[in-house]
Amino acid sequence: MRYVILIIAALAALRTDEARAERFLVRDQAQFREATETLSPGDEVVLANGEWRDFQVLFEGRGLADRPITLRAETPGGVVLTGQSNLRLSGEYLLVSGLVFRDGHSPTDEVIAFRRDSRRTASHSRVTQVVIDRFNQPDRRTEDIWVAIYGQDNRVDHSHFEGKSNAGVTLAVIRPRGNSQPNRHRIDHNYFGPRPNLGSNGGETVRIGTSEESLSDSNSIIESNFFDRCDGEVEIVSNKSGGNIFRGNVFHESRGALVLRHGSGNLVEGNVFFGNGKAHTGGIRVINPRQTVRHNYMEGLAGTGFASAITVMNGVPDSPINRYHQVVGAVIQGNSVIDSRRITLAAGADEERSAPPVDTRFERNLIFNESGDDPFRAEGDIGGITFAGNVQNPVRQPLLQDGFQRRELDLARAANGLLYPTGAAAGAAGVPRSLQPIRREQTGVAWYPKNGTGTAAFGSGARTEVTAGASLARAVAMASSGDTIRLGPGAHFVDAPLAIGKTLTITGPAPQGEAILRFGGRTLFEIAEGGRLHLTGLTVSGDRAPRAPGNAVIRAAARPMLANYAIVIEDSRFGELDGSPDFDVVATSPSALADSIDIKGSRFERVSGAVVDARGAGEDSPLYSAEQVRISRSEFREVGAVVDLRRGGRDESTFGPIFSLTDSVVVESGRLRGASVRLSGVQVASIERNRFVDSAPIEVTHSVGTPQTLVAGNLFARTPPVVLRELYAPGPPRAVLRGNRTEAVQ
Ligand code: CA
Repeated sequence: MRYVILIIAALAALRTDEARAERFLVRDQAQFREATETLSPGDEVVLANGEWRDFQVLFEGRGLADRPITLRAETPGGVVLTGQSNLRLSGEYLLVSGLVFRDGHSPTDEVIAFRRDSRRTASHSRVTQVVIDRFNQPDRRTEDIWVAIYGQDNRVDHSHFEGKSNAGVTLAVIRPRGNSQPNRHRIDHNYFGPRPNLGSNGGETVRIGTSEESLSDSNSIIESNFFDRCDGEVEIVSNKSGGNIFRGNVFHESRGALVLRHGSGNLVEGNVFFGNGKAHTGGIRVINPRQTVRHNYMEGLAGTGFASAITVMNGVPDSPINRYHQVVGAVIQGNSVIDSRRITLAAGADEERSAPPVDTRFERNLIFNESGDDPFRAEGDIGGITFAGNVQNPVRQPLLQDGFQRRELDLARAANGLLYPTGAAAGAAGVPRSLQPIRREQTGVAWYPKNGTGTAAFGSGARTEVTAGASLARAVAMASSGDTIRLGPGAHFVDAPLAIGKTLTITGPAPQGEAILRFGGRTLFEIAEGGRLHLTGLTVSGDRAPRAPGNAVIRAAARPMLANYAIVIEDSRFGELDGSPDFDVVATSPSALADSIDIKGSRFERVSGAVVDARGAGEDSPLYSAEQVRISRSEFREVGAVVDLRRGGRDESTFGPIFSLTDSVVVESGRLRGASVRLSGVQVASIERNRFVDSAPIEVTHSVGTPQTLVAGNLFARTPPVVLRELYAPGPPRAVLRGNRTEAVQ
């Protein structure tokens, strides 16, 4: 009897709740606050379509498993939060959907947070069909997190995150110190759109946990997400907790790797990596005990070292929590690694990282390289890895013998888009045919385009002409991205800096004469947000620039820029840039990153500063200002320095800077600064087939990482030999010097 009464009471309560469930359509922030003061299970708050500016949304309440409290857009994608906006959830069984964050940034250090403050988190809650598009802090060095997941049993799914270009993780599971309980979050079917190279640590797309609580399990699932050109830093995904599952994700042309950085007992299964030969595309990096890497597919990955298709690292004995725990009991099984450059075992072995992988199985993997090159490298002892049942096509000088069958393989692409050996040649090795990579359009939302960065290519637009005496400033202002401006023969004078905020080519009239460009300001071209500049066939003279130090022909704007820029100088001549000290040709800024600076077939004469000044943010800062500087077939006479390219600090999270100087001539240069070419913290440098005459030496300083410096086939006439320094690595400098000729200093 009492039991029946209880049931009736419960039903009555249920009816009352249902009766109370309401739908509120709110049209402004005051209405929203009123509607959300007391929310009951089943309630639904609907934001009216339109722009909501400077709206800090606090969504708080306690729903029930079968009757969540909902906050949604009137129609999915119809509500756009702009300006200084963000969203905090607090409580239980909350559901948010259909919002877009664009044209602004969060006033706090999170855009969406599953908590109100450190004591009030959200659990059993879900954020779905939300878009965050370029909602960046104005200064790329300011750190924030777009989606910060606290609490337990939350889900972020079918959402679209694109264009994060300031520092900080795109989506993070936060496990604060002292909070070691399992989280059981689910992160699935999201579209992680293009994220440009940050040029520093803090550019991860996903992070699960932090090192402090990494010895406990998060038990989160990250599955069926699409990572599209996520280039932020060396870790696309940084796993820092245990018991997580990474399953069925696709990584498309993303630089870096899925890194099992901290935490043990994780499963990485059925993921697909397509590199398409793009530099630094990697796969999975294994660190810590009991990791399983199974049935993953890697194709066209060009990464090496820590960004190899598969990297198994050496650990640090009795590792501190934030270093590298030894790989123990890893299972690497049934993966297909196809036309990928490298598989690195015992990676990073050195005096500190001296604990090799042990009790580890590498079995039934399929390795194929059309080139006939063996991708395997061992940087230390691999006696603790057992190889069995692997199949590889015949390669020159294979590193490994036992546990490999080598046979000719013919691959054919199956309906799922993946390559498999024809016939039964590979037996049970490699990924199963049942693997179904998630397609881009199955992730994110259907109502928001996945176009990517949409940067126009040089020369892809219209062509206009500017005759001598006409206004180049006007032509630049009127041009659309991708356009080409052709200067007529004769003198062109520019009195104020030309802001370049688009892709623009400016070309001379060759072969119909010469265009000479002069300028009366401290800068001729100022690269602004979205700017990319290509100069070709021009003559630039600095003789009319002010007699004050620090002029530049091309300068990155001092205010922070989010988009990475590019500069190409081709078949051009620069001179008379010596009327005042430190007159640079290209002056970069640490508040913006040049993806590339290319100089080809050009001549520089009498430049008091550097042709490329990329000194970054200083000796202790890892922020550098140019990823790639490439100079070829060029001539430098009486220049302060050809290049000054530096990356400071001890951060190992980036691939650059990368430098090359080839087939060029350097005469009477670098004396004032003590070096004609100064590189510091550069990761890859090649200086080949140049002539240095009556110049100051090349100076190369190595800091962290595994810098590769090659100085080969150069002639040094009355020029001191290369000066090499190691800041941290013991022993002799690691550079390769080969086939250089020296003529005596007089
Ligand atoms: Ca990192």
